[in-house]
Order: sequence, then structure tokens, then C-alpha cells
Amino acid sequence: MTHMIQLKKFGGPEVLQWTDIELGEPGPGEVRVIHKAVGLNFIDTYRRSGLYPIDLPSGLGTEAAGVVVSIGEGVKHVSPGDRVAYAMGPQGSYSEERIMPANWLVKLPDEITYQIAASMMLKGLTSWYLLRQTYSVQPGEWILLYAAAGGVGLIAAQWANALGANVIGVVSTEEKKQLALQNGCEAVLLSTDDIVSEVKKLTNGEGVPVVYDPVGKDTLITSLDCLRPRGLLVSFGNASGPVEGLNLLELAKRDSLYVTRPGLWSYVNDRKDLEAGCADLFAQVNNGNVVITVGQSFALSDAADAHRELESRRTKGSSVLLP
Ligand code: NDP
Repeated sequence: MTHMIQLKKFGGPEVLQWTDIELGEPGPGEVRVIHKAVGLNFIDTYRRSGLYPIDLPSGLGTEAAGVVVSIGEGVKHVSPGDRVAYAMGPQGSYSEERIMPANWLVKLPDEITYQIAASMMLKGLTSWYLLRQTYSVQPGEWILLYAAAGGVGLIAAQWANALGANVIGVVSTEEKKQLALQNGCEAVLLSTDDIVSEVKKLTNGEGVPVVYDPVGKDTLITSLDCLRPRGLLVSFGNASGPVEGLNLLELAKRDSLYVTRPGLWSYVNDRKDLEAGCADLFAQVNNGNVVITVGQSFALSDAADAHRELESRRTKGSSVLLP
């Protein structure tokens, strides 16, 4: 007998139920993993609420680190006893133990602890594709990053700084501002500041070539106004609600802007992408360019409380759930 968090209907944090389950043995291509730390991600709240629909009843979460217990037929790249982590795959990482498709598992380097792995796999791979592929950040550029003291934010700001960019962060509190300044940001604005005029001041009136915006609905127009001609808005999340009904003339009248709405699954959809992303991510962590800290932890059985904290903007950096 083991336990998982399950939801039978969409809704608020209260739909997350601690549930007893019996796990079978892994089938072909599958692995049984015992979790040591589980990653908490804002995307989990979209799946819980039904903004990103999933089939119910369902487990939740796609990120965790742990130890391989047993493997199914045909699994070659991991063995019982291996330390592993993952950032993608079927819902269900909010569990003490689970069966996972082996192809999403990567072996953990010895120096990366389970809690650090669960803090960085999904957020780090996201930072990797946003900064290296969606837009290739260049040395000396000023870039704008919202939620700079959040889970993705602290990793992306440090990584962009290591690439030579000058990161302007946006956060909601003075405490988060200090944290963002210590983690790669050159300048940090409060969400109550006049963001557009501050960004223009910092960039000699030009605006930035790229805005990374995970806030969504509330910040759309400000983000567009911060861009220089032909700049790119990377709208990668919905923390304030989804962006709906963007009139393309808004892009034309601000000098031919671009907008993309990327998802991790489009950039990491096979083993080759996963290994390339992890190699780069692990190298950034090993060489000290990106320091991963666990901002806060919660008991796995208290996942509902963890969701409340995350959605109330009270968390800083990454959060983990501990089985
Ligand atoms: P965070 O730890 O960054 O938490 C979200 C942050 O968003 C908050 O801390 C808060 O920071 C900010 N925020 C702004 N407005 C609101 C609001 N109305 N309600 C709640 N929070 C708000 O979460 P994650 O690191 O897990 O994810 C960050 C973002 O990246 C999310 O939008 C997520 O969906 C997105 N994401 C997208 C991926 C993709 O591939 N497209 C993959 C992974 C994450 P502050 O208080 O400083 O404003």
C-alpha cells in the first residue's frame, strides 16, 4: 500500500485528496520509482483548476526525484538502485511511489540532491528552452523577466546573467526584490512601479528585445509596451489568468512586434531533447552559474496547502513536497 494525491473533480486546492493505492509491477518500458522529493509547479494549479484539462480521476504533477525500485522488460538506461529524476510524463508525481515510463527518467549526478533535483528539473528545462531556443539571449542585451523571484524566475535570471544579459526583474514585494537582485538581476522593479517608463530609462529609451512574461492576462499590454521595434513577447504562463483576444493590430502599431506562447512539451518531446536540455542544465548547476535553492518545503500530504501558498504569491524560488 502506498499513497498519492488524487483529484476527482476540478476546483480549488481542496480537491487534492490524499489517497491509498496499490501499485502493480512495471510493464514493458516502465519503471517503479520511490520518490524522495516532488516538484511543485504553477502549471499543477492549472491542471487542478481545469484550465489545462486532464482526464479524471487523476494524479497530479510531472516532476520528482527518487530511486528506481524495479524495471520492466526492455528498460536499458536505468537499473534498480539508480538515483533518477524527471520533469515530464503522465500526471502522478504527487505520490510516494509510482510507475513511470522509463524514457522520461534521467540519472542524477551524485552532487545533485533529490530536493535540488525536484526544485530544478521542470523549471530548469523551461529556463533552458526559453533562453536558448525560443529566443537566444545575447551578451550585453537588456531583457525583462516577470516573477523573477519565483521558481522559474530565480533559475532563468541567473542563467540569463551567465549568458551576459542584463536582466530587469519584476516582482511584487521588497523582499522578493532583494532576492532577485542576489540571483542574477541587474535591476528589479516592483509590479506597482511604472514598468514601461523604468524599462525605457534603463534601455536609453529603446525598450528590450525580449520580454519573458509568465503572468499573462494582467501584464500583456505592459509587456508589449516594453518591447523595442520588432521585439518578441514570450508569454509563457497564466499566473494572473490566460491571455485572450489579442488584437494583432496591437503588434503592428508598436512597430511589428512578435508574440509566442511556448510550452515545454514543444521543446522537449523526445529523449534527444531531454538529454540535451539536462546536459546543459546540469552543467550550469555544476559550474555554479545557476545556484538552486529550495525556497520552501511541504509534506506531500499537505499539497493543498502548498497550492494555496503558491497561488497567494507567498512562495519564493522553488518549492518541494516531501513524501
Ligand atoms: P512561481 O514560483 O514563479 O510562482 C508564480 C509567480 O507569479 C508568483 O510568485 C508571483 O510572483 C507571480 N504572479 C504574478 N501575478 C500573479 C497572480 N495574479 N497570482 C499568482 N501569482 C502571480 O511559479 P513557477 O516557477 O512554477 O512558474 C512560473 C510561471 O512559469 C507560471 O506562470 C508557469 O505557468 C510558467 N511555466 C511555463 C512553462 C512553459 O513551458 N510554458 C513551464 C513552466 C512554468 P510575484 O509575487 O513576484 O509577482
